[in-house]
Formats: sequence, structure tokens, C-alpha cells
Amino acid sequence: MEVNSSPNAVRALIQQARREGAIAGVVPTMGALHAGHASLIEAARKDCDYVVSTIFVNPTQFGPNEDIDRYPRTLDDDLQKCEAAGADLVFTPDTSQMYLPDAESDVRVTGLTQKLEGERRPGHFDGVTTVVAKLFNITVPDKAYFGQKDYQQQLVIRRMVMDLDWGIEIVTCPIIREADGLAMSSRNRYLSAEDRQRSLVLHRSLMLAEQLAAAGIRTAEIAARMSRLIEAEDGVELDYAVVVDRSTLVPAADDAETGVALLAAKLGKTRLIDNQELRFR
Ligand code: AMP
Repeated sequence: MEVNSSPNAVRALIQQARREGAIAGVVPTMGALHAGHASLIEAARKDCDYVVSTIFVNPTQFGPNEDIDRYPRTLDDDLQKCEAAGADLVFTPDTSQMYLPDAESDVRVTGLTQKLEGERRPGHFDGVTTVVAKLFNITVPDKAYFGQKDYQQQLVIRRMVMDLDWGIEIVTCPIIREADGLAMSSRNRYLSAEDRQRSLVLHRSLMLAEQLAAAGIRTAEIAARMSRLIEAEDGVELDYAVVVDRSTLVPAADDAETGVALLAAKLGKTRLIDNQELRFR
């Protein structure tokens, strides 16, 4: 496995592999890797001949009240996980290698980015789409792998790739969970033992949503029951729990066949998101 922080060197390595006929897959990450990230690299390994993982804590997707300095950085351990999962190349740029100080361009998806996470975190998705666009231009992959864990993010990236005729296949991989149901996240390590226990209500509310959907309960009622369950848990501050259309994120119609339950909540200073696709009776 090679590790390289230079955009030009990385572009040249991938171009060389593709000239030799390789299908190239990229897995963008912010590091602090866990089994969820590894599952994306493993999926790319199965589909592709040349697998690139990127590790970059992107400053432009953090809001003014979100502490980028507190974000975990575990590069040595990350590189071991990349290698074990089957990466051929890890791209590890620093901020000065990714952004010119006088940059004047960005990539913005409208509409989809105004709801839910975008509404709560102004500018967040502009940072995401701009850095992913740059990573796509540097790595020029055939396929790119994202987690369903960040449900709205993978939709926004699909929209960007379609709108800009990128021709990159976006693959969305299932959410990897801890044995007790908590969705794996780099931020879970911030949870106190008490909050870690309380966090289980999030997965419980998604399982409740699945049961209610299968029982034919109306979508607004499902969202309300999820909210009540989460709000009843001491120390968990619900941000939103909604049941929406899987591609537009507008509230799911009562006669819809499928939808997705999306939620966000804060435990102490740590904000967690999770989701579950639903099939209605
Ligand atoms: P991050 O490092 O948080 O920016 O995440 C990098 C990629 O890993 C994103 O596409 C995430 O959706 C994905 N990811 C994060 N957590 C999980 C998880 N528990 N299961 C599957 N994919 C995940």
C-alpha cells in the first residue's frame, strides 16, 4: 500500500493504473477510521482493481461552532486499517495541499442541501461538495463509495455527480453498527459511559419506526412516536426525527411504499445522526 499527500503524485499514480486497464474506486474519509469506513474500502476492493482511500479532515465543512480541533486524528491506526481492508493507495493531503489560500471557487448543490442537516449546519454541504469535487478531480475514479450512515450526504453527492455529468458511479454502503445497535461514528469516542448507554435510544427509535411502518401506521404518526421515545430519554436532546421520501427528503406521503426515517440528537456536546430505510404496509 502506498501513502502519498501530494495531489499531483496521487493523480499520476491513479492515471497510470487506469492506463493499464484498472477500474479505480475511491473512498473519501476524514480519518479516525472504524469498521464502517473499512466496510467501504472492502466494498471497493471487491468491485475495483485499484482502491484509493482518502484521509482529510476538511475544514470547510465544519461550522463556526463546530470544533475542528477536537476532531480525532489517528493516522497510524488509520493506515493500518486501510491496508487491512485492501487499499492500494491512501491520499493524506494537508489543508495547504487541498486549498489555495486565495481560492474563489466552490461547488454548491441547492434544494436538497437546505433541509435537515443543511438547515442545522449552514454551509456544511457546500464544504462537503467542494471537497468531494476536488477529490474526484484529483483521483478521477470510476466509482466512489459513501456510507448510508450519512444519508443526506450521499444523496447530495449523487445529485452533484448527475448535475455535473461526472460519470462516476456512486455506491452507497449499508450502516455498520456496534453489537448493541449504535451506528459506528468517529464521534462516538466522545460519549461518556452514561451517554453511550443513553445513545441506544436512537437505534431503538429506528427499530420502532420499522415496526410501525410494517404495521401500516401513518408516516406522521411514526415520526411523532420516534420523537416521543427519544425525548423521554434523560440527557438526550432530540434535534429532529422525520419520515421522508428516500430521494427528495420531503415528508413521506401516506400512500408511499417506501421512505426513510432520519434522526439527529445531541448527547452532551456530541451530535449523532442515524437513519433506517422503511417499507410501508
Ligand atoms: P467520515 O470520515 O465521517 O467523513 O465518513 C467517511 C465515509 O464513511 C462516509 O461516506 C460515511 O457515510 C461513511 N461511514 C461513516 N460511518 C459509517 C458506518 N457506521 N457505516 C458505514 N459507513 C459509514
